Amino acid sequence: MKLKKQNLVGGFNRYRLVITLGLAVLLPAAALIYVNFSQLRSFQRDKVLEALIRRDFQEALALYEKKMNKAMYKKVDETRELFPSADADVAEKEHKLDEILSRCSCLTHAFIFDGDDVVFQTQPSQRDDKYVRDERDHMVDSYHAWFSTKTEMKTLVETLHQRPLNIGFNSFQTTRADGPGFLLTGLFFLPADDRTIVAGVTFDPCYMKSEFLPNMLDDFVKEKNAEQSGNSRAMMIYRADQMDGREIKPMVATVGWGEGKPEVTRKLDDVFHGLALGIKFEGTSVEAMGHTWIRNSFIILGFLSLMIVGGLVLTKHMVSKEMAVAKLKSDFVSNVSHELRTPLALIRLYAETLELGRITTQEKKHQYYRIIRKESERLTALINNILDFSRIEAGHKEYEFRETDIADLVRNTLDSYRYQIEQQGFALEEAIDSDLPAVRVDREAIARALVNLVNNALKYSQDEKYLGVKLYRDNGSVKLEVADRGIGIARRDQAKIFEKFYRAGDPLVHNTKGSGLGLSLVRHITEAHGGEIEVESSPGTGSKFIMSLPLVAAPPQVSSSNAIH
Ligand code: ADP
Repeated sequence: MKLKKQNLVGGFNRYRLVITLGLAVLLPAAALIYVNFSQLRSFQRDKVLEALIRRDFQEALALYEKKMNKAMYKKVDETRELFPSADADVAEKEHKLDEILSRCSCLTHAFIFDGDDVVFQTQPSQRDDKYVRDERDHMVDSYHAWFSTKTEMKTLVETLHQRPLNIGFNSFQTTRADGPGFLLTGLFFLPADDRTIVAGVTFDPCYMKSEFLPNMLDDFVKEKNAEQSGNSRAMMIYRADQMDGREIKPMVATVGWGEGKPEVTRKLDDVFHGLALGIKFEGTSVEAMGHTWIRNSFIILGFLSLMIVGGLVLTKHMVSKEMAVAKLKSDFVSNVSHELRTPLALIRLYAETLELGRITTQEKKHQYYRIIRKESERLTALINNILDFSRIEAGHKEYEFRETDIADLVRNTLDSYRYQIEQQGFALEEAIDSDLPAVRVDREAIARALVNLVNNALKYSQDEKYLGVKLYRDNGSVKLEVADRGIGIARRDQAKIFEKFYRAGDPLVHNTKGSGLGLSLVRHITEAHGGEIEVESSPGTGSKFIMSLPLVAAPPQVSSSNAIH
């Protein structure tokens, strides 16, 4: 009945532990892991990361276009300041325009269209270039035709008035000795009261290709890479009229561009009409990055999940262990109080009976005295065990080793128990070798160990009441054996019985009084003498405890902090 109740309590506690662990830790952890996994899966499915990077790229390209435009507007505006006034004569205008061209090698042409008066100056160093000459003729003709048409002129006036700084841009493809070039012209009006004078500057395609555009791209990439760690960005500019589907050939690209398609492109339509910007990551693609990120996230999540599960298993293990110790302790308290109460009650009962003088026969009186002595001996043994145990636990237990005739010690100890052993109907078989050398031991401790072993043999025997005590020399040690033919000990319990508070699950053990301290003391005492304790037992046939004490000189002095495990 008692056993059942304990099991119920243990089971209930374990059930509560499982519920607490489950509700407080496992459920939230599992929910978190599940949410993260499904989030990652949806990231993978919807390519969220890729879309985010692409949007970031698009925003960056829009910003870069604005910056390029701003730089170009500024350049044209600065040159406009240097233009001659509307009423200057042709020679003066030519002179001023030449001055502008010599100041800025980035310009190929500078011109003023004042009705039919056209001043069109070309960079002196390029004037002999056939391509530049053809280009100039073409420009003079087409601009003249354009600016002479009234309706076209009206549109131009309206357009320029709406543009920032009243500057407009006109671009087309040209050809130079080294291939096609991007020819960009900035147009503006020269202030005049009565007529519309269109002026402008044309940028050298070589300057655009080898200086302006590469510098701009490098600045963008450097600035972005400096503010963001991770993969570097690469950029390029290409002609927007390249056929879709064909591999895009960059006109200008940053150093890290390498091979491959841009991730995001943007056709430029204000200043740099006809060109397009492209951007990507250096040496990798957004898709590959997405894959790697997802894979790494899955690995990290998997690892974290494993750690959570490991932590839970460990916690459960630890808590179960603590609970087992707590249970052992509570069993210990109830066992000890029980064990104290019985001898005390007996002593009181017999002492009171004697005091009342009701016992007349001498023999009966003797019997009562013997019972009182026996019970008080049991009490003393128990209290000694508890005291020793608490000393050991507190680290205060000290041993006093002295040269001892161990055969004598064993014999004397047995003598004081002989009567009790025989009273209980046990056959005592002694085989004590008297020829043993003196051993350095703590007498009291060794006697206590022997008493504990003998007591156990008596307690845990049922039908066959046999007690065998042997003391003999075995190589370098003295062995003390205590054997019985009692209930025996199951194999799985054999290592545990030496732990403090541990008592085997056998019903006889539960019905027998005990504290679970005896064997842990025996082990501590043996180890303090530099020896070891073993048990040989099988259920139903009996047990044999063998304590070996080394013969060599003095046993190691055990440090007082040697607590019982
Ligand atoms: P206690 O006897 O007070 O319970 P011990 O530490 O002396 O504590 O013993 C621990 C357990 O080992 C006992 O509860 C019992 O289950 C088992 N045991 C010890 N000695 C014997 C023995 N001679 N025969 C069978 N079981 C034993």
